[in-house]
Amino acid sequence: QGTTYTVIYDNIHQQDYTTEIDSVLHTFDLSLSTYVPSSIISRVNANDTLVELDDFFLAFFAKSKEVNEKTEGAFDITLAPIVNAWGFGFTDKQKVDSILIDSLLQYIGMDKVRLENKQVVKKFPQVMLDGNAIAQGYSVDVIAAFLDKKGIANYLVEIGGEIRAKGMNAKGELWRIGVDKPIESSDASDRELQAIVQINNRSLATSGNYRKFFKENGQKYSHTINPKTGFPAQSKLLSATVIAKDCMSADAYATACMVMGVENSIAFINEMPGLQAFFIFTDSEGNYKTYASKDIESFITEIE
Ligand code: AMP
Ligand code: MG
Repeated sequence: QGTTYTVIYDNIHQQDYTTEIDSVLHTFDLSLSTYVPSSIISRVNANDTLVELDDFFLAFFAKSKEVNEKTEGAFDITLAPIVNAWGFGFTDKQKVDSILIDSLLQYIGMDKVRLENKQVVKKFPQVMLDGNAIAQGYSVDVIAAFLDKKGIANYLVEIGGEIRAKGMNAKGELWRIGVDKPIESSDASDRELQAIVQINNRSLATSGNYRKFFKENGQKYSHTINPKTGFPAQSKLLSATVIAKDCMSADAYATACMVMGVENSIAFINEMPGLQAFFIFTDSEGNYKTYASKDIESFITEIE
């Protein structure tokens, strides 16, 4: 997945699970990593008709479809051809103009792809899937399920910043998660915290426009694409943290919020049972502002 991960668990069995966890993640990548040419998703993208879908792929596809429907298309895994054109995907950046984007938009949309007898059926061979906005969160759930199976009641799983926590930390408190200030940098080591969120048997994922972006002629292009326009989402929303029971949902909805913008995302989160959010955005003077949904307000400590 091109990132780092941390798994902290209450070592009740005095066992080091590093090798087993690595092997679960490797199996996961063989299903859903677009950076592994022989993975299931890569073979689907290459129109390999012999590929057999596994349970990881089927769960990923079902959740992606569900989030696409709930967000009225803001979340869309069929964006792969456009994400690639912008240079944020699994191929080299192309020279982008509105003619290119218009020509690619015809291949975008969940109505262009469906499952039939455990096979992906595409409307056009050019249709491709990008799981980067949801698969990382899903891999967190998969590792959490591994620890659940071992009977471990207290753990924290973090992969590339997407998190699931259960029980308590070593001090016997709820797990405390730092949310980064949305400082523009490609380097995650430059971090400063905006807030600390305590989570209780929940997952947390953050999407933002401050780490993966490029600038051209003074214009900023971030890696979240608005499926309606094919262009990078532009809004006052700098960072969207979503809290959900499972990390696959948190990850997907966090990405969708970046597309929907501040006002729509606040309305959306308040309508969705089981989702909470913490947003960082700019006001008209360019100052950071934050919003926390009601039921998590008391679990958030903002840092001055
Ligand atoms: P995340 O960091 O989880 O927000 O995922 C961002 C990544 O998801 C991007 O780098 C793209 O690969 C992909 N992506 C971009 N825009 C969308 C979108 N609107 N829906 C689904 N995936 C997207
Ligand atoms: Mg995401």
